[in-house]
Amino acid sequence: MTRTVYVNGEYLPETEAKVSIFDRGFLMADAVYEVTSVLDGKLIDFDGHAVRLKRSLDELDMAEPCTKDELLEIHRKLVDLNEIEEGLIYLQVTRGSDGDRDFVFPSSDTKPTIVLFTQNKPGLADSPAAAKGAKIISIEDIRWGRRDIKTVQLLYPSMGKMMAKKAGADDAWMIEDGYVTEGTSNNAYFVKNGKIVTRPLSNDILHGITRKAVLRMAQEAQMEVEERLFTIDEAKEADEAFTTSASAFVMPVVEIDGVQLGDGTPGPIAKRLREIYLDESRKAAI
Ligand code: PLP
Repeated sequence: MTRTVYVNGEYLPETEAKVSIFDRGFLMADAVYEVTSVLDGKLIDFDGHAVRLKRSLDELDMAEPCTKDELLEIHRKLVDLNEIEEGLIYLQVTRGSDGDRDFVFPSSDTKPTIVLFTQNKPGLADSPAAAKGAKIISIEDIRWGRRDIKTVQLLYPSMGKMMAKKAGADDAWMIEDGYVTEGTSNNAYFVKNGKIVTRPLSNDILHGITRKAVLRMAQEAQMEVEERLFTIDEAKEADEAFTTSASAFVMPVVEIDGVQLGDGTPGPIAKRLREIYLDESRKAAI
């Protein structure tokens, strides 16, 4: 099926949607993005994504392309037009283009480019990958220093994912100065003696929308949570581990650098958190 996508105020068949070759998103990765999941045809945590988008834009002095209400309407219309029951909505905003290439930002009256498209993913919640759990390798974190801004500079995370695939694993966790930062496209956690450990928020990691929700739900379920730096060796000795992201929710981790965690199947806390997250998120979806 040809998707209907959104580009700068227009709903178009994907084959007709166009962006300038001078767009700074294309030339300089001068762009930010969000990915919002859809369950039962409704948006999960739209508000969190809209707030983070605004923060990313502000941090980069980029203009807002539209209001939050307009953004919600575009998301909902794309879900309807593309008949999405379960899937993802990708949103990207770039600094636009003034028709040439220059390191200097274009003048402030240059219009940002805004693009949204849907990804239909039936079975997103009931995922076989989550039932099996993920195998992780560790790699050096050589990304830039503002990982709290959700930019489209995804070459290294993409290479990390390929390194994992080559090693027969599913994903990679990144390490800086001896401590785990996060996964290529998710936040990272381990569990030891019932306590959930994850890195605290800073410029070093993306402030995951799912992370925030899952930590709140863990605390509400009387689970113990500690936000601190941790090493990959601690994670390898853990009882269980998991990642969180808008596109995979809570994903159990069953192996790190070839070391099996527990009995090599998804751990009880990761499974429980996945259930709670899906349940609560469906109820709050809009
Ligand atoms: N960390 C990184 C580097 C990511 O790319 C992502 C998602 O794309 C996350 C964490 C998880 O964030 P969220 O829960 O908002 O999807």
